[in-house]
Amino acid sequence: MKKVSIVVPVYNEDEVLPLFVTELDRSLRRLKDEYYFETIFVNDGSTDDTYDFLLGEQKGYPDLHIVIVNLDKNYGDEVALHEGLHVSTGKAVIVMDCDLQDPPSLIAGMLDKWEEGYEAVNAHYTKRKKDGVFSRLGNFMYYRTINRITKGRQIPLHVGNFRLLDRECVDYILEHPNGIYRVEAAHSTNRIAEVSYVREERKRGKDHYTTRGMFRIGIESFISVSSSPFQWVFPYALTFTIIAILAMAAEITLFVLITLFFIMSEVAIAWIIGVSIALDVILIIIFGVLTTLCTATHNIYLDLNKEMSFKEDEIVKEIIKGEK
Ligand code: UDP
Ligand code: MG
Repeated sequence: MKKVSIVVPVYNEDEVLPLFVTELDRSLRRLKDEYYFETIFVNDGSTDDTYDFLLGEQKGYPDLHIVIVNLDKNYGDEVALHEGLHVSTGKAVIVMDCDLQDPPSLIAGMLDKWEEGYEAVNAHYTKRKKDGVFSRLGNFMYYRTINRITKGRQIPLHVGNFRLLDRECVDYILEHPNGIYRVEAAHSTNRIAEVSYVREERKRGKDHYTTRGMFRIGIESFISVSSSPFQWVFPYALTFTIIAILAMAAEITLFVLITLFFIMSEVAIAWIIGVSIALDVILIIIFGVLTTLCTATHNIYLDLNKEMSFKEDEIVKEIIKGEK
């Protein structure tokens, strides 16, 4: 019987976990004659009842063969899922969130594709419920930028961490980690299939990612694929600076020419001065925003460099298996 690992990072999820475990068990039940599933919950330093709940469920759901990897503090889901990959022993590994945004009912279809010989099966969402304009725009820009600066294989749009990877790909990732799973997974093979779904909202509990958090993940991805994180900021900043300097030069020239060669009413001169000042103010504001953005990017980059330099053996973890 082929062994398949399900890796689930969890952080303060005691509200939704009972639903998730029930649904996962239901979806895997009809596959259990063909596959041996191990379900690795990586408890990412939860401060609620997540850990106790998981301990209780090791006996409650024997078919899931629950393994708990208990981290000593909160490291973030990327570190947590990588810890899960280290512990996994399946011939295929499926990473998924526990808030039911990644539906367990998709697993059967993923396994079918894997059996056909694909090494990666991405869960591709055709629709994401209740996504605001900013989040869509942010997403679009994220993938456009990252795919422009990535050499080699492209990172697919509308695919999160929910995907199946063959053991070969997981081993490749563990040997060549860069910290961002979706980037690593995209680079681990080109034998890729897809299953599609509609991404629902989280069933219970709260999302952990704030706008700042998303911003950090974005920057972290760029760092992970590029040796120089500013190579993508720099051309934009430089273009803007050149445009700003040219605009100001044109403005001053125009002003000098007008006052030298035209005799104008005071009202017209006041208008010209007013419009020039307004233009300058706009340029200065844009400049300020860009500078703040660059400084913030730089600070986050420094922070992240520290965080990403976590060595596997610096992470304190305990592995609790339900059975010997
Ligand atoms: N998660 C984690 N550590 C964290 C934050 C989140 O392990 O510090 C887990 C969380 O429990 C969930 C998954 O990562 O299983 C995705 O989190 P969430 O649903 O909050 O993210 P979103 O769907 O908003 O991207
Ligand atoms: Mg979620």
